[in-house]
Amino acid sequence: MTQAMPAPAIKPNIVAIRDLHKSFGDLEVLKGISFNAREGEVVSLIGSSGSGKSTLLRCINMLEVPDQGSVAIAGEDIRLRGEGAHRRIADEHQIQRIRSELGMVFQSFNLWAHLSILDNVMEVPLVVQKRPRAEVEAEARAMLAKVGIAEKAAAYPAQLSGGQQQRAAIARALCINPRVMLFDEPTSALDPELEVEVLRVIKILADEGRTMVLVTHDMEFARSVSDRVIFLHQGRIEEEGTPDQVFGATRSPRLKQFLNAANHA
Ligand code: ADP
Ligand code: MG
Repeated sequence: MTQAMPAPAIKPNIVAIRDLHKSFGDLEVLKGISFNAREGEVVSLIGSSGSGKSTLLRCINMLEVPDQGSVAIAGEDIRLRGEGAHRRIADEHQIQRIRSELGMVFQSFNLWAHLSILDNVMEVPLVVQKRPRAEVEAEARAMLAKVGIAEKAAAYPAQLSGGQQQRAAIARALCINPRVMLFDEPTSALDPELEVEVLRVIKILADEGRTMVLVTHDMEFARSVSDRVIFLHQGRIEEEGTPDQVFGATRSPRLKQFLNAANHA
């Protein structure tokens, strides 16, 4: 007897962006961007410098407030009020809570120079989330081990290489137990040999099924790590698809040009 195959479960959207617009003065940087990152998905944003990738990422946690459009995290709409350039965060408590569920990793590592690596990683869980120290310390040490710098727990940021500092920043972001990790060119400040060790850590997180939105200039990495790739061009999504579609069967002439230039960089 044949049994009906169960329909594949559709994972919920962790990040849902609808019709996002953002201008700085007369410069319209985002011209209507919509995309989702479902639970466990890795979505990479690519595009030339100035195409709006960082602005888009910063709109996800409202470091930039969009002029129009909406952002929802795990099904919850971030509340905004006002119109256009006057749009503001409507509910500070809501945004603080949502931000505490987003793990951000930037180009610069932003570690506290006066705190040890372990204390850097424990800061938010202890001080903001007010979780018990013993539990937080065990988790922080496990995260440092995961990113390969367990032996650096007592060191200070200045004693670490750039790649080690960036891995500490990733451990810190993981320790808040984020619903999604947001990466903005996490390796662009690093020498190539240090870049590799950071990319390896991000790949481990992707393989573990972490939801991630990643801005990267490394096309080979985007291809290996992503479920979906989005190419931004002049404030719009010019092309998107699986890595095989976007890199292997490129349709847009602008994307072809961009990939060509990236190959010869
Ligand atoms: P990308 O990350 O793709 O290089 P950005 O999002 O950083 O692009 O920038 C897109 C455009 O918006 C650029 O022209 C940049 O100069 C401009 N821009 C970004 N942030 C601001 C800001 N706070 N004020 C004015 N212009 C900005
Ligand atoms: Mg940028």
